[in-house]
Amino acid sequence: MILQGRLLIDPKQIPKEGWLRIENGHIAEIEQGSPPKEPEAGSRDAMICPGFVDAHLHPPQFDVMGCDRLELLDWLDRVIYPAETRWSDKAFAETHALDSHRRMLAAGTLGYAGFLTSHEHSVMAITKAAQQIPLRALAGQVLMDRHAPEELLENRIARLARSEKGRLDCTLNPRFAPACSDDLLADTGRRLGEGFPFSFKQREAGEKGTELFMQTHLAESRAECDLVRELFPDDEHYTGIYDRHGLLTNRTLLAHCVHLADDEWELIAARNCVVVHCPGANTFLQSGVFDLNKARAHGVRLALGSDVGAGCDLAMPRVARAMIEVAKLRRMTIDPSAHVPTSVEAWNLITRHNAQALGFHDMGRIEKGASADLLILRLPFACDAHLIGRLIHTWRDEYITHRVLNGRIA
Ligand SMILES: [Zn+2]
Repeated sequence: MILQGRLLIDPKQIPKEGWLRIENGHIAEIEQGSPPKEPEAGSRDAMICPGFVDAHLHPPQFDVMGCDRLELLDWLDRVIYPAETRWSDKAFAETHALDSHRRMLAAGTLGYAGFLTSHEHSVMAITKAAQQIPLRALAGQVLMDRHAPEELLENRIARLARSEKGRLDCTLNPRFAPACSDDLLADTGRRLGEGFPFSFKQREAGEKGTELFMQTHLAESRAECDLVRELFPDDEHYTGIYDRHGLLTNRTLLAHCVHLADDEWELIAARNCVVVHCPGANTFLQSGVFDLNKARAHGVRLALGSDVGAGCDLAMPRVARAMIEVAKLRRMTIDPSAHVPTSVEAWNLITRHNAQALGFHDMGRIEKGASADLLILRLPFACDAHLIGRLIHTWRDEYITHRVLNGRIA
């Protein structure tokens, strides 16, 4: 398959006219100039860019976006737990899992890391959705065993699935420390250590599976941090609880990290975890203003997430815009030295850097051998030195004319 358009290979440079040949789901050839034959999609005026990657969201929360004026813990009780309880109906879960993939595809999000519900069948629901719309995904059943409605405290962890073509990998997702006992966190740590798959036979033979990703939330709101201090009085700090159970590795995605002390930043850096900044959600729930300077000063790996449903926007360019706006506000009101990311930095985050953080090493880029997870855009403005700024600050899903998913036009 041949695609024609300006190729956004390096966001620091104005994209040149060219074409791509796609074979077996990957980019096989990249050339400048006119294509050798009629392209399957695109044109001289089109632009081709990598699909977006969202490093943190919740498919079961897509239909409760925008329930405003609640703080995190009340919002969980009053909005989120009821929404996730609706997934106890298998058919409902399957319909909504598929719908979440449809909506991400529409927004140009071709890869993501997500939390399901605590129901064992939520894993099957997302696996089925991924068969129809094969987004690249890390997704896991939410693990909770306290401080949530009884029907969400399902303790059986689903058999972890992994799709044949490596498009979907299951992860271990303890929701956050307040909803998890020490026993549950210890069990999660054990399973993380065992890797995938951890069949009884393998365990008996003392074998180790391949490494798993773990996702959780950390220090999102002040009230949450106060609750954690009450529930874990013997731990030095919130981050230390996860570390005590062996949950902090280079495959750990920690969402939010708004209220951390310096020693917690140091620990996260030492364990080489990924911090997932969720600017839209932090503003929506008034959880706090993320400190990019801390992440940078400690050399922590950073990713960006919509955190839908606390975030109310799936479109990653608008999440990138939210990050820039929050950083500008921080600079104007809290800290004149606050780092404000450039448009190019933000664009790299929602494409190649998020992809790398999630272990999708061949995604989020246009290069030979990369996975053909691409978008073809028609833009109402010129391709000049302000291109990336315009993309981020004026983004509309209508810019997308084609979505190329795993080498096929979706
Ligand atoms: Zn979240």
